[in-house]
Amino acid sequence: NTEPESPYRVVLLGASGVGKTAFARIFDGAADSMDSDDCELYEMFEKVIEVDGEPAVVTLLDTWDAEVRQPCYMQTGDAYLLLYSITDRASFLRASELRITLRRSRPAQHTPIILVGNKCDLVRRREVSVAEGRTCAAVFDCKFIETSAAMQHNVWEAFCGIVRQLRLRRDSK
Ligand code: GDP
Repeated sequence: NTEPESPYRVVLLGASGVGKTAFARIFDGAADSMDSDDCELYEMFEKVIEVDGEPAVVTLLDTWDAEVRQPCYMQTGDAYLLLYSITDRASFLRASELRITLRRSRPAQHTPIILVGNKCDLVRRREVSVAEGRTCAAVFDCKFIETSAAMQHNVWEAFCGIVRQLRLRRDSK
């Protein structure tokens, strides 16, 4: 099959200050920032990344956390990176709320989601343990990874992980 894949829309969700823009910057490395349909809602980056030897076109949406805008984000993505900061328990609770809203918005779909505990470099300011993150992901039936955008640790693993999940879903259709 030599047909190019259509772009996967991956949405960054999470409380403000957790590192969404830092993730987008890392992704952006060589990507073109595109004009979004409505730049008030999100910033969009598109790029071809190679995952397991196969190219994938990924459109990454960096969003702003605001109640009024959420319904739009909940419908727009093929997959979600749900970020919190391990140094901010409130952001962990926010990630849970967002997960519940996502499930309600798309009850019939199995949407790939990775729960991402960012800022794992800030060990002494940790408020959420690895075990809590892992347990939360298990309850919410999604994958889990801890990252540090500051150290560029595991960020690409998260992007590649979401592409792998999207492919699994595609191949099982
Ligand atoms: P957003 O509001 O979710 O887009 O968060 P930002 O990406 O703007 O990050 C908020 C602040 O946290 C900025 O000062 C970032 O430099 C910092 N930050 C983001 N990721 C990390 C990280 O992994 N480690 C550390 N130490 N700081 C981070």
